[in-house]
Amino acid sequence: MQPVRGWSRLGIKLFASYLAVIGVGIITLALAADAVAPVFYSSHMAQMRASGLMQRHMGGNAGPPATGGPAALEDELAASFRTALTEALLVASTAAVAAAVAVSLFVTARVVGPVRRLVAASRRIAAGHYAERVPPGGPDELGDLARSFNDMASALEATERRRLELLGDVAHELRTPIATLEGYLEGLLDGVVASSETTWAKLLDEAGRLRRLVDDLQELSRAEARQISLKLEAVRPAEIASAAAERLASQFAEKGLAFDREIPSDLPAVLADRDRAVQVLTNLLTNALRYTPAPGTVRLTLQPESGAVQFTVTDTGIGIAAADLSNIFERFYRVDKSRSRALGGSGIGLTIARALVEAMGGRIWAESPGLGQGATFRFTLPLAR
Ligand code: ADP
Repeated sequence: MQPVRGWSRLGIKLFASYLAVIGVGIITLALAADAVAPVFYSSHMAQMRASGLMQRHMGGNAGPPATGGPAALEDELAASFRTALTEALLVASTAAVAAAVAVSLFVTARVVGPVRRLVAASRRIAAGHYAERVPPGGPDELGDLARSFNDMASALEATERRRLELLGDVAHELRTPIATLEGYLEGLLDGVVASSETTWAKLLDEAGRLRRLVDDLQELSRAEARQISLKLEAVRPAEIASAAAERLASQFAEKGLAFDREIPSDLPAVLADRDRAVQVLTNLLTNALRYTPAPGTVRLTLQPESGAVQFTVTDTGIGIAAADLSNIFERFYRVDKSRSRALGGSGIGLTIARALVEAMGGRIWAESPGLGQGATFRFTLPLAR
């Protein structure tokens, strides 16, 4: 947001309004001095003439000679002048007060109006009406406040929408394994499903799926609330890569996939939480294993780039369509829900991976030439200095 500058500042507007009041006072006073005072002065002189005071003072024949002489005349004149001036000042100050009232009514309307609208809007937002916005206003600080308020309201609305979506997604994700469990249990009760080892293994499998989902959800909520505590330290990239690769090597062999590794041992250390970095790489390797049918190849490579080390997992698997590439890091987004679920996926793995990589100061992204043409996942971790 642009900072408020120069004449658009509220302080300058208020100062200008004070100047306006003072200006009206000075102008009225000048007008009074120029026009009103002589009128009052002449009318007092006329009164004095009518009462014959002047002539008496000046030695005229309108009556008996004045007793006070020229000194008394000066007193009379000074008294008349004071009265005229006081009356002129009264007119000027009444005009200045009227101007002050008019200006302050105008300024108050300009200041208090937006503030009242902000108060009303914030109350409505507090009551859960997140779509509430205020008019953006002018270029001064109040306009700035209104725009910041609207930005805050938009952020709150987005958070609320995500919260509702998450609740909906979680309910949806829980429904499938629960329905499967229910189906088996009912079948067992009715004697339709045989109480065999296979049945119990399937039940256990579904229970395991539920547990993994709950674990992932817990991890996701921590990651999204930025509550994951990271133990950042200098770690050798080869250490991260070897730890993740060793975990999964046997599974690649079992599935009949080639697992190529290019792990240079002389790369500079990265600043990362060792376990979290291993978790991210394990997640990418698990996905490669999951979405690459045999016979195929999964390749893990490490390479230096400016200020960071890049970890790359490339597979020859099912690939990802261009339209899905930007979405797969969103929670519960799965290109093929039934395939992912059947393969044990929850659709949260990449969301957690992205939150972890970004919390460690790195980037994560995916590339794929298209469906059926394999996929490449890359992430970076900054160098330890
Ligand atoms: P899941 O638990 O479903 O694998 P992820 O968040 O790890 O959830 O991945 C989200 C989606 O991205 C997957 O459902 C899949 O459609 C797609 N995906 C992830 N990795 C790959 C890959 N190596 N090849 C093809 N598709 C992938």
